[in-house]
Parts: sequence; C-alpha cells; structure tokens
Amino acid sequence: MINAFTVDLEDWYQGIELPLGRWVGREDRLRVGTDLLLELLADVRARATFFVLGSVAERSPEVVRQIHAAGHEVGTHGYGHEFVYRLGPDGFRADLERSLRGLEQLLGVPVRGHRAPYFSITRATPWAFSVMEDCGLRYDSSVFPVRNYRYGIPDAPRFVYRVGSIIEFPLTTWRCLGHNLPAAGGAYFRLFPYTFIRRALRDTNAAGQPAVFYLHPWELDPGHPRLDLPMRISLPHYRNLAQTRHRLERLLSEFRFAPMGQVLAL
Ligand SMILES: [Zn+2]
Repeated sequence: MINAFTVDLEDWYQGIELPLGRWVGREDRLRVGTDLLLELLADVRARATFFVLGSVAERSPEVVRQIHAAGHEVGTHGYGHEFVYRLGPDGFRADLERSLRGLEQLLGVPVRGHRAPYFSITRATPWAFSVMEDCGLRYDSSVFPVRNYRYGIPDAPRFVYRVGSIIEFPLTTWRCLGHNLPAAGGAYFRLFPYTFIRRALRDTNAAGQPAVFYLHPWELDPGHPRLDLPMRISLPHYRNLAQTRHRLERLLSEFRFAPMGQVLAL
C-alpha cells in the first residue's frame, strides 16, 4: 500500500494566526526545514505533494522551482493562510485564484490539489467544493474527521470520497471507542508516541485504504524563533520539535509514500 506524503509549504510564522501585516520582518527560515525534508525524502526515493502557500511562492520562487524539479507534486495551500470559513465564498475564490495564478505562472503546469489553511473546510463551508471545481482543481485534502476547536467534520467519511467532481482525501484518523483520533502528522506526530501514528497508518492500510501524512518544514527546524503566543497555539507549535527528524526517518523507513495525485491515480 502506498500512502500520500504531503507538506504544507509555509514558513514558521505563517500558521500561527498572525495577521498578514505581522509577517513583515520575520526571519526567513523556509530553507532550513525544506532542504532537510527534501534530503530525507531523496534518501528513501520518496516523492511528495507540497501544498505551497501563494505568498511563499512569491517570496521564494526558487524553492518552489527546486521542489518541482525534484519530481514532487505542487498543490496549493491558498495565498494568505486564512481560515476558509472566515473568507466566505468570494474571499475564498479570490485567495485561491491568486495562489493558482502565481503557481501556474511559476511552473507552467496546472495545479490539481488543494489543502486549506488550518484544515478549515468544515460544515460552515458547503460552497468550498464548487469554488475548487470552478478553479479547475481535481482533489482536496482539507477535511479532518475530528472535533477540533478550529477545524473538523467529526462525522465526515474517514477515507477518500467525492464531493461533486472533487475527490476529497480526508486527513488520517484512528478509530477508537467510537471516536476518531487525529493521526495524520503535524503536531500529532510530535505530541503522540510514534507507535500511535504507526498503528493508525497500519490500521488504515489494513482496511485497504491509503493514509495521508502531513508535515511543515518548520517542524524540522527546532531553532526557529520563539514567539510569546497563547498556550493553545504555542503548545502544538513548539512541542517536541527536536524529535521530528528521528521520527520522520523511522516513518519513511517503515512505510511507502508517493504524491497524493499519484495515490489517487490522477
Ligand atoms: Zn498551513
């Protein structure tokens, strides 16, 4: 079974709910984690899907070109890292179109996949799939079938399904005592024991389904600046960063991964 390896390509300060204006002047450390990640993937000859934030592609086009040249798939993570349910249908469309224009001009290939910032495709965004369809996307990987204070559709399907013409690849969960526990990567990969994540991926594969794993480059950069943030943000952001590399090497040695478009046979 081949699983999808995905990366939300953004710098350390872009996913911590700082408004765009407070990004100015932050230390650019995109390369630190991205170079290491590309190296670790190359070591095991695995390719991934990088959901690139449009503003990152504008600031660091050479990084995105390098990712594409290494054979990885490039998808979109929107432009300004905003909650889709706060943008509303028109705002979401404008943000998505802006990111797609930039990526397609940069790489000269159509972009097929999307991941919403903060997994913010929820019951409050029933219009999001038709916007993605209008923008020419083929698949989305934003629905997290869990209950979280800022995202999640707890009763969404746990495995790949369709909404209109869009294929949805929901974030991997582990089913336990009637609940879905988040197990797809990111903070959960650092907060929970490695063996829990492995169990979730193995059980998903045993059910005949591919799993999806996700990571951010800054999770491989324990030296990035520390900001004074509310506990709900700082704990999942900074916890156990020094463990990511070791755990990732183990994961890459125990599972096979490919870009999401390939796993979905697109
Ligand atoms: Zn993000």
